[in-house]
Parts: sequence; structure tokens; C-alpha cells
Amino acid sequence: MAIKLEIHATDPEVISLVQRYWAMNEEGDFLEKVGALLPFREVKNAAGIASFVKTQCLVIDQNQSCSICGGAVAITTRSQVNKDPQHSSSSPCPSCKAVQDDERRVAEAEANAKLQSYLAKHIERVDALTTRYDEIPDDLSLIALALDRAVASGLVGRSFSYRESRSLAPMGAEDFVDRLWSAQVLTDAPRATGASAYSANDNGLSYYKDRIKLALVPDEKLGAGVEAFQKIAARSFDDKPRLLNLWFDYAVAECMSYLYEQSHKEKLDVPRNQVEEIKNAIRTAVQFYSISQVWCLLWKAVKEVSGQAEDRNYKRDDAGTTISQRLLHHYEKTRKGNKEAKRWGRIEFLSAGTLGKIFKERFGIDHDSSGVAVARLFSEGPSVREEIEASIDAKVKQLMACALAAGSGAAAIYDFAELIRNGAATSEAVELIAKIYAFSPTNEVSVT
Ligand SMILES: [Zn+2]
Repeated sequence: MAIKLEIHATDPEVISLVQRYWAMNEEGDFLEKVGALLPFREVKNAAGIASFVKTQCLVIDQNQSCSICGGAVAITTRSQVNKDPQHSSSSPCPSCKAVQDDERRVAEAEANAKLQSYLAKHIERVDALTTRYDEIPDDLSLIALALDRAVASGLVGRSFSYRESRSLAPMGAEDFVDRLWSAQVLTDAPRATGASAYSANDNGLSYYKDRIKLALVPDEKLGAGVEAFQKIAARSFDDKPRLLNLWFDYAVAECMSYLYEQSHKEKLDVPRNQVEEIKNAIRTAVQFYSISQVWCLLWKAVKEVSGQAEDRNYKRDDAGTTISQRLLHHYEKTRKGNKEAKRWGRIEFLSAGTLGKIFKERFGIDHDSSGVAVARLFSEGPSVREEIEASIDAKVKQLMACALAAGSGAAAIYDFAELIRNGAATSEAVELIAKIYAFSPTNEVSVT
């Protein structure tokens, strides 16, 4: 028998029970099944016997040795018995384990003290943070407004988790939130989170993304109350290049969320290492087409790639790598074909997010707005209307003065309206009306 039994009990019945429980033959097989020992007083089941016996003796398995000191190893259950002698066990002996436990407790206490001291300093830093709301760029302000709506009770006066911000965008809400954090519009909120969201290491504090809470950094003059936050909402939003860039980021998120949904349906993996390439291809397409048109192009691309994946000669895992190429192929083909690309309806459960809703409310653009139209809206040069007005200004002044002088103002307006109704562009109609109603001053002289 390879085990050594030290029985603490003095009660003869208990001693006999412990001996029967651990009795084994030369081969290391137990002489009796645990069931044969039942019942023992109030103990009616095998698990009860095992845990009772454990309290009555110390069992050393001589076939095992401590992984640290090489000494004897104590076991507590039948399943821990080792039938064949081995050099060292995977577990330490009781005294080495006690030393190990002590060392671990000391290390844990030290780590906790380090964490608490780092955290105290971090809280001081966070408490002192301020920013200037009037200097927050337009794109970040728009994200902040969208985030305020996405988080159930708003941003003012409370902290929130990444999970609570999910409805900010169709996907990748975290990335938009991170922009606010790195620009110090937001900060982490260690007072609200507590130490459990942080860990200390040699480089200082790190945090667990699923536990951390974030909050607004206060304005240096107005604080972080409702009045201060309204300053963000009331700004004029005229940094067009930043807004345009944010729109394209948002459009890419809309399309990626559609792509994942469609790929899931077609049982196609979108390879992680392809994501950036696919995003770039989508970004190219949404600069010209609307989001809903790019959904259609993506639908075609996914259908084709998933068809390829069905092909036995093709490695299924490789199929996903061609998504971006197929998308660009359809994009170019549709543009060259000069045909209107089809617009796909929104998949009902894929929401535009609060960012999408704010783009719609503030700028009137949504998933059906073409990339070209959005670029024009956010272009820095004069608007199309201003350009047209400038080009027709001289002619309009002349023709109106002449028409009024000749008493034919109403007729000129009537004819102009008629031309527009028949599809003429504004400047084209002005040109035609001018030919009829505007007389040069020399002509006028000769007429009178
Ligand atoms: Zn040991």
C-alpha cells in the first residue's frame, strides 16, 4: 500500500471506518466501494463519507512527492491516489503550500496597496481635470450630443459604461466614445467605478474595459451641468471638413454593420485581418454613393464571395479575403455603367444609432443621401446656390429692370416659371428669359 495513514480519531467505529475507506491492495485498488460503508451514523451518501473521513485523518501518498521540497504529499480523496511512483507531484506538500499561500497573500496585499496608492493619485488628477467646451471641435461635439442621447439618463451629472453607449452608432460605438476620451471631453470616473475596474502594474494603472465608467470633463468656467452642456448643443457646427470626415466614419460603420449581418446570414466569416481593407473600400464607395446604395453593392459582393466559398476547389477560409475586391469591382462597374445604383432598405433591427439621428435632424442627411451630396453640403467653398446666384446676378438685374420698364414684369416671371416647370435649370431659364425681355441700353435708345 503506497499510502500512509495518520488517524486523528479515537472513536473505534470512526477509526475502523477510516481504515476501511483507505484500505487497498498491493496493486493500489481499493478493497471496498464507498457505497459498502454506507450508511455511517447520519451520513447517508458517498460524498458525505468522503468529506467526513477527510476530517479524521492525514493521508500521505508515498507515490507522490512535493513539487517544491520533494517531501511527502498529503491527499484527501481516493481520486488523488497515484498508483505508480513518480518523482514529483504537480502540487506542493502541506508545508510548502502554506509557505506559498503566505507568499501569495503578502504579494496580493502589496499589489492592493500599490493599486490603492496609484488610484488615489489618479483620482486627484481626474478631480482636477477641466476643459473648454467652446474649444471642443465640431465633430467631437456632435458625438457628445449623440452619446448624451444614447446613454439612458444622459451625460450630465452621471457616469456610464461602454455598454451603455452602444446605441450611439450602428457598430463601433466604443471607437467614437474613445475619441471623446482621448480628446479629454470624457474622462474615466474612478470614484464611480471603484478599484475593481483597475489594476496596477509597473507602468502605472491599467483598466478593464468592461468595468470602467466614464463621465464628462467639466468646462473650466461653467462646470458640467445642464447649462454647460447646452453650450455644446447650441454651437453653430460650421467646421465642415471635420463634420464631413465624421459622416464618412459613420457611413462606414453603417455599412460594416450591414456587412456583418449579411455575412452571418450567408455563413461567411469576415476575416479580422481584412477589416481595414474592407473599411477602406467602403469609404471609397460612400464618397460617391449613399449608404443604402453601398448596402446593395455589399449584398452583391457577399453573395458572390459566399458562392465562391461553396466551390469545392476553393478554401472556405480564403473566400472572405476577397470581399473588399468584390465591393470595389461592383462600385467601379456601377459608376462606369452610368446606371443609378439600387438603394437597399434598412434592415429593421440595424438602427442608425443616435449619431445617425442627429445627422438627420441637424443636416437633413441620412442613409439615402449620396456621398456627393453630403460632400457638397459640407464643402468649404461657396454653396451651389451661391455660385449660381453669382453667375446670373448681372443678367437678372438687367432683365428685371428692362421688363419692369417695359411693363412686362409679370409676363417675364410667368415665362420663367413655365421654363422651370418644363425642366430648365435656373441659369438656363434666366438666359432664355433675358433673350426675350432684356434690351441693351443702346437698343433702348434706338427704340425710343
Ligand atoms: Zn514541500
